[in-house]
Amino acid sequence: MDWQGVFASRMGRMKASEIRELLKLLDQPDVISFAGGIPDPGLFPTEAFREAFETIFAGSAAAALQYSVSEGYGPLRDWIAQDMARIGVPCTRDNILITSGSQQALDYLGKLLISPGDTALVGWPTYLGALGAFNAYEPRYDQLTPGGNRGAADFAAAARAAGGAVKFAYVSPDFANPTGETLSLREREGLLDLAEALDIPIIEDAAYLALRYRGEAIPPILNLDIARSGGIESARTLYCGTFSKTLSPGLRVGWVCGPKAVIARLVLMKQAADLHSATLNQMAIAEVAAAIYAPHTAMLRETYSARCAAMLSALKTHMPEGVRWSEPEGGMFVWLTLPKGLDAAVLLKRALETQRIAFVPGAAFYADGSGRDTLRLSFSCASPALIEDGMKRLGTVIREALVA
Ligand code: PMP
Repeated sequence: MDWQGVFASRMGRMKASEIRELLKLLDQPDVISFAGGIPDPGLFPTEAFREAFETIFAGSAAAALQYSVSEGYGPLRDWIAQDMARIGVPCTRDNILITSGSQQALDYLGKLLISPGDTALVGWPTYLGALGAFNAYEPRYDQLTPGGNRGAADFAAAARAAGGAVKFAYVSPDFANPTGETLSLREREGLLDLAEALDIPIIEDAAYLALRYRGEAIPPILNLDIARSGGIESARTLYCGTFSKTLSPGLRVGWVCGPKAVIARLVLMKQAADLHSATLNQMAIAEVAAAIYAPHTAMLRETYSARCAAMLSALKTHMPEGVRWSEPEGGMFVWLTLPKGLDAAVLLKRALETQRIAFVPGAAFYADGSGRDTLRLSFSCASPALIEDGMKRLGTVIREALVA
């Protein structure tokens, strides 16, 4: 069977990332890993979930095990709508579609908006998983620079020349993966100006929003959009949320919040793709969110905040001259730029061999494969003491590479 001959053209864009393959090898007990961008499993609200599953099985086992509506479990959508109102986005359950993690929302939005050859505006770097989701729909990427001076006409002309149109801008405005950086209010307003001028939607990926450790919260882009447009039904921002970073990534529960007209289209997509997200998982998330969301996320912020501070302070102590890094106010990541001439992929091999530490080389997060002098460090899973030790080792590897 000539499989290559029968694969659809979109498969040409769906390649295994070298980095992901390499990271699979890192699961060795003596490696201190700053690579995985995952929540600390030791902080999962295990007991609350055990109680929730027991309650569900005692009271509504049949409903939990049955098919359910594509829009998602009603009480969960109500809880989310209330939480969206708390962050400045007044909406109802009809503005919410439950998805299998926010990753599925990114896939659906790519499917909804991109025809082959259309342009998606993304950061350089941006979330690797967003590029992976969009790639299946064969877009072209153009570089979105917050506060940058390229105008709408420039983006539109470049997209036309490539045979398509600009279809959306994708951003993760709070403590982005991979940079840890946050868009200022001005940058958010500037992005809305650009989106208005191009008449395109904004995909706002809010995966880390609940994990702010210091500084004032900045309103979500959807909030600013509603203030301009008069309400969620006339907004152009599609907000992707998730319980993965707060309650559990394994249960795969996320959501999209946006105008009903768009949600209705996404519901059709959900019906065609997988009918609905797991009923039992949605019910469990609804129970646990109602019971402990506020105190649990407060505990997460306290714990991760100490790890973030430990990493920033250890970097200050151990990095040689010429290394720069981001100073995140939340999330899970610090983004590091190496001195000129160093390649993060080469450095990773050396770091693994000689110091038994791991990180993610930055090039994978660039749509054009640039950024070889950058790397992502995650502080979510290590104790402050391990972080101190790990950054000391990283400093040694960089120093050795500089004299080599
Ligand atoms: N967006 C960003 C920025 C992420 O970092 C992640 C998880 N790595 C996701 C979306 C997807 O998460 P999930 O599908 O678990 O909600």
